[in-house]
Amino acid sequence: MLLFTPGPTPVPQNVRNAMSDETVHHRTPEFEAIFEKTRKHLFNLFNTDEVVMIASSGTGAMEAAVTNLCNDTLLNVNSGKFGERFGKIALSHGLNSVEIKNEWDTPVSVEAIVEALKTNPNIDAIAVQISESAGGLRHPVEELAKAVKKINPNIMIIADGITAVGVEKIDVTNIDCLIAGSQKALMLPPGLSILGLNNKAIEKIGAGKGYYLNLASEIKSQRKNTTAYTAATTLIIGLLEVLESIEKNGGVEKLYEVTAIRAEAVKASLKALGLHIYPTTPAKSITTIDDENASEIRKLLKEEFGVNVAGGQDHLKGKIFRINQMGLIPTYEIIWVINAIELSLAKLGRRKYDGTASRVFNEVFFEMEI
Ligand SMILES: *Cc1c(COP(=O)(O)O)cnc(C)c1O
Repeated sequence: MLLFTPGPTPVPQNVRNAMSDETVHHRTPEFEAIFEKTRKHLFNLFNTDEVVMIASSGTGAMEAAVTNLCNDTLLNVNSGKFGERFGKIALSHGLNSVEIKNEWDTPVSVEAIVEALKTNPNIDAIAVQISESAGGLRHPVEELAKAVKKINPNIMIIADGITAVGVEKIDVTNIDCLIAGSQKALMLPPGLSILGLNNKAIEKIGAGKGYYLNLASEIKSQRKNTTAYTAATTLIIGLLEVLESIEKNGGVEKLYEVTAIRAEAVKASLKALGLHIYPTTPAKSITTIDDENASEIRKLLKEEFGVNVAGGQDHLKGKIFRINQMGLIPTYEIIWVINAIELSLAKLGRRKYDGTASRVFNEVFFEMEI
């Protein structure tokens, strides 16, 4: 079965092998050397002043960011399930929450953010997804961060890059905290999250908040290549293997380039089949199609063609399907996925099969690739 869900994504064989070695103790020079190397690669990936790894799924890093970087009111952008989660985290910690809510195909506008700041002077942090995985859209994070910093440079910008770090180059000039998670673009099993922090964020963190998710204690330990509590040793060993694989395959720039071209080629081929791209500003990490036959297409893909794509959640259940674009994806696999979509449409009597999807994919992908 080809796993094409936008998280978890497939774990490459060499990474699985690396993680199958004997368990190492985390307080040893051997593990500290692995930790140090991993950190070096992460600095290259994040381009932030500091990076911190936490043994938690992505939501743990979201919570750490909110509790350590927001003291009063969080402005969160809700164009999907993950954006909504930031508001719930703030409220659960007794912080105030202001939310800008849109349909899941609609990105937040910079004007709406500026307006919210005017009416709510207590906002001291903004949390937003770079790529909102619920509908596969891209928010204009860099533009809104720039606008916010012009108004008040002390307002913290928390950018959830769980489906963006490792997908595309992110300009972190005005971003204070950038979050990644292991099981999406980083091609690992779930259980590790990473925060990239800029100096302005580190200043605000000060002595930190909370206990397990206290970022001050983690920064202090991780600068010495260790962790405050037991490190997710196996996942960190896997992460180092992933980051070294990316280097061996031409580096992060090459990965961003191929991901962008593949996402373009998939969009073009699916449009050529008469399918509709759901978000108005699609992210490169995920291709989302809204379709009245979404459930039937997913079922055929899985049962007849060995392809597992994700459906929708909440009000989009049965209305969309989402195809992963993250990670080192073999080109022959994605060509099979779009061909299988065309075959499924033929089975549903929607159109005659004539190989359009593969032809358009090949034209776009290889024209740009070569
Ligand atoms: C998956 C995801 C999360 C949540 O991560 P968990 O690992 O499930 O806790 C948060 N934000 C985005 C954008 C995601 O795709």
